[in-house]
Amino acid sequence: MSKRVQFAAHGGAEVLQLVDFTPAAPRDNEVQIENKAIGINYIDTYIREGLYPVSQFPSGLGTEGAGVITHVGAGVKGFHVGDRVVYAQAPLGAYSDVHNVPSDSVAKLPDNITFEQGASSFLKGLTVQYLLRQTYEIKAGEIFLFHAAAGGVGLIACQWAKALGAKLIGTVSSEEKAQLAKKAGAWATINYQIDDIAEKLSELTQGEKVSVVYDSVGKDTWLSSLDCLKPRGLMVSFGNASGPVTGVNLGILNQKGSLYVTRPSLGGYVRSREDLDKASQSLFDMIASGAINVDVAESQKFPLSDVKRAHEMLQSRKTSGSSLLIP
Ligand code: NDP
Repeated sequence: MSKRVQFAAHGGAEVLQLVDFTPAAPRDNEVQIENKAIGINYIDTYIREGLYPVSQFPSGLGTEGAGVITHVGAGVKGFHVGDRVVYAQAPLGAYSDVHNVPSDSVAKLPDNITFEQGASSFLKGLTVQYLLRQTYEIKAGEIFLFHAAAGGVGLIACQWAKALGAKLIGTVSSEEKAQLAKKAGAWATINYQIDDIAEKLSELTQGEKVSVVYDSVGKDTWLSSLDCLKPRGLMVSFGNASGPVTGVNLGILNQKGSLYVTRPSLGGYVRSREDLDKASQSLFDMIASGAINVDVAESQKFPLSDVKRAHEMLQSRKTSGSSLLIP
């Protein structure tokens, strides 16, 4: 018997239950993976709460994990039993001992990257890859704003920016998180619990402002983010940690300087095997070279039975960097 986390109604962390289940055999083009480490992502809370509703209950949760292939479905090419793999865009249900995943969304984990490193970085690191290299190509020396810089995605972004020679200004909610972001490579930080974001950014850039803002906080920072942009700058709104941005009057983009906005997702950038191979190679190279450290604090590794606490900690802003479930 295997274990998995499921929920039978949208709601707070209390809806999550750990249950026994018998994994189905992998279908055509799927592999069955025994998870060794599972990534916890903020999107999992949107799905649990119903911001991104599920189509049926009970539903599994989680899309990211790393482990070993134990069964291979018909038609699978290039993967074998015993392969060490990682995935970020699986159907819901990664919060489990065992998960069936389409082989198209699985990548082989290089020998020099551990399961924990894989599961803590795949979804978040591929996200940083497309944000900084594709949505807008950050240049060496460029100053830009990245919100929630001490979070899971954020700490990877700080390190990637440093590796590019760019100057990331990161927002954070505490002095402790400011130190973590700086240690990871942020050029400067703004504590958005104390300081006005746009004023502080203007000071840091001698009034120049920036050409791109990466905003995963959403509702609370939307307007300040627009105020940080130069004319014709790009607002990359890629998450909703404080709630979604709704009811936007397009005229505001005109008033604040002929701005651009995009609302991207990983699925829009990693659309094929080739995209996945290219982006994951770039991420693995960064990790293997030591440019990006994705080790997870012991206090943020949880057994499956502690999933409620893991979600509560993430949503109460008590975590920094990535968190993992260890089956
Ligand atoms: P994080 O570890 O970054 O956790 C979210 C952080 O957001 C918190 O730690 C907190 O940092 C900050 N935050 C600001 N306001 C709030 C609030 N009201 N409630 C809770 N947290 C708040 O999570 P992830 O690394 O998993 O994800 C980061 C963001 O990126 C999420 O919004 C997620 O949805 C988005 N994302 C988007 C993807 C895409 O392709 N579009 C892919 C992956 C992630 P602080 O305390 O410093 O304010």
